[in-house]
Amino acid sequence: MTLRRLRLQTSWGRVEVTGASRAGDGTIVLLPQFRLALDAGRAAQRLPSMSTLFLSHGHMDHIGGLGYWAAQRSLGALGPGTILAPRPIVPALRTLLNTMSDLEGGRPYDIEVKGVSDGGHHRLKRDVELAFFATDHWVVTLGCQLIWRRTRLRPELKGTPPDEIIRLRAAGKDVARTVETPLLAYCADTGPGLFVSHPEVFAAEIVLLECSFFAPEDIERARTYGHLHVDDLMANASLLRCQHLVLLHASRRYRLADLEEKLTHEIAPNLPCQLHHLLVDW
Ligand SMILES: [Zn+2]
Ligand SMILES: [Zn+2]
Repeated sequence: MTLRRLRLQTSWGRVEVTGASRAGDGTIVLLPQFRLALDAGRAAQRLPSMSTLFLSHGHMDHIGGLGYWAAQRSLGALGPGTILAPRPIVPALRTLLNTMSDLEGGRPYDIEVKGVSDGGHHRLKRDVELAFFATDHWVVTLGCQLIWRRTRLRPELKGTPPDEIIRLRAAGKDVARTVETPLLAYCADTGPGLFVSHPEVFAAEIVLLECSFFAPEDIERARTYGHLHVDDLMANASLLRCQHLVLLHASRRYRLADLEEKLTHEIAPNLPCQLHHLLVDW
């Protein structure tokens, strides 16, 4: 399977978002510039080079590639890896990793499993961190926001000579402020409750959002399984302050060609942002 590759312009620069997704069959999103995978529903050749793996929840279409990631990192001596996952599933993930390394007959994998929860943070790089939020699925599920942090001169000091800035800093004056830019939000599996509980995530420059159902008769199915229907998306389109919306997780009930037709002609013209997708036939 060839993953789909998007290159999306943001204030940080061009962000590569590579992945593939279908409900039930597998969702995997790679951000190679941040060595970060957002779920690993399937094995993919580029997956092991991601040193951090965020697992939104324990459903197999989101963790099916976990063993491949762990084993290939170990085999290739790619160094320690980190899994970020909702706290309640951490013990099962540790047991699973130990079982898999036992089966392989090797040493335990060099992987730290870190439990995270709604409102928590994880530093990814010096100036980039992840912030976690609860979504509206039927098992404990987290989404995450990628936040770029910069230090900037306070606006009232703009135009001040450098010598003066140094003097002020030496005198103990706070000359800098922190600017936070939410670059990307990954909303994982979710029902429409997310639009109410965390509307702020839709202000990220790139939003990765599931949209599992499209046919009018499937609205009940969406409610039952904690997923989004395209009607939910359109009803909340005014919350989308992102530049790029990337759709994921469409049900296998719909043919890819039909979905692409619908996205281009019916959905994109009614959205306030650019529309993309990572939908595939696995
Ligand atoms: Zn799923
Ligand atoms: Zn799920």
